[in-house]
Amino acid sequence: MEVAAVRLLRGSALLRRNFPTCLPAWKSPPGALRASHSEALLSPAGSGLPGAPLQTLSDEELMIQSAVKKFAREQVAPLVSTMDENAKMEKSVIQGLFQQGFMAVDVDAKYGGTGASFFSLVLVVEELAKVDASVALICDIQNTVVNGLVRKHGTEEQKAAYLSQLATAKVGSFCLSEAGAGSDSFALKTRAEKKGGHYVLNGSKMWISSAREAELFLVMANADPGAGYRGITCFVVDRDTEGFHVGKAENKLGIRASSTCPLTLEDVKVPEANVLGQVGHGYKYAIGSLNEGRIGIAAQVGRLVPWHALSQGRSMNSRKGKCSAASKRGSMRTQGGALPPGPQGSGLPIRDVLRTNSGLRWRLPAFGT
Ligand SMILES: Cc1cc2nc3c(=O)[nH]c(=O)nc-3n(C[C@H](O)[C@H](O)[C@H](O)COP(=O)(O)OP(=O)(O)OC[C@H]3O[C@@H](n4cnc5c(N)ncnc54)[C@H](O)[C@@H]3O)c2cc1C
Repeated sequence: MEVAAVRLLRGSALLRRNFPTCLPAWKSPPGALRASHSEALLSPAGSGLPGAPLQTLSDEELMIQSAVKKFAREQVAPLVSTMDENAKMEKSVIQGLFQQGFMAVDVDAKYGGTGASFFSLVLVVEELAKVDASVALICDIQNTVVNGLVRKHGTEEQKAAYLSQLATAKVGSFCLSEAGAGSDSFALKTRAEKKGGHYVLNGSKMWISSAREAELFLVMANADPGAGYRGITCFVVDRDTEGFHVGKAENKLGIRASSTCPLTLEDVKVPEANVLGQVGHGYKYAIGSLNEGRIGIAAQVGRLVPWHALSQGRSMNSRKGKCSAASKRGSMRTQGGALPPGPQGSGLPIRDVLRTNSGLRWRLPAFGT
């Protein structure tokens, strides 16, 4: 319901940042509306009054934030431990993410998306990460990388076909890394050979997030190895395509409910129409989408407060989680009848650990907000 309201808001003139709108921008002295923090960047054009600090959320952003909080508290939190133990995302959580419009935050409403801003997406990932890092991750990758690639580089037909599925029902995966191509991802060995109106893909991928749940895969393969990385091309591959196999998910130490799987492609026949964007431009697309993906990941790692995990003594899966655990433990635990000075072993007072960690967060006005 909230998302529907957000759409209504977007259509109206209410999208103003949440501070005195009677104050015309031209009357404010330069910097008057800025925060004293380094994150005092201008709000994106069109999303509010110019000069509003980023931590001042618009009506729409507040509404989205509160919708995610509610969803995370009511529909995710009760399942976190089970999902972590079983290393499996519950279907109901994924369905909920779609129903709430969180899997297509900045996708146009005509494709079934929420039609909000990229900034709102950051808020969504942040709020989910407070409760479950894995849920935040599946949402982040779907939005920033998978949807982002189709939205920016897909033809109108591809957007109508795939973006609307990704916005409403189908999880997607981004498939770049290989056993010998991690940081040096453009050294990838998966090949795409043109045969008539098709490409035939052969190779393997590693560490592909959400692959167990995904139905659509954006696979980077080299269609012209002679041209080096300039042959890398992005293909949309349906999970059911013959020769396409998703392997067993890795047994990870953290973000366990987020699946990370190997893929093999054996003579996978993909219609030419499934080339996303232009042949040989995959490397550019990958760089661009990973840049946005990193912002989402920053929102994820910067806001992990797995309180449910603390209460149940489960292992932490993030630095912030550890800091939160340290904070809670430090505030409750006594040694010889007195509070210890800080987390044992670190030698640092908890507040310093937390402050250091808060530097991760690019728009954090004060820790713990
Ligand atoms: C949980 C998880 C989810 C993932 N999801 C996806 C996904 O959805 N899709 C996908 O395509 N990939 C995914 N990956 C793969 C991820 O992108 C790679 O793990 C990453 O690119 C690093 O590659 P690597 O693991 O081979 O490490 P390496 O490239 O071997 O790097 C190991 C270390 O060496 C350093 N290093 C590397 N090269 C240099 C250099 N030239 N100079 C100095 N230092 C260097 C690195 O910084 C790193 O610290 C995922 C990985 C994980 C762990």
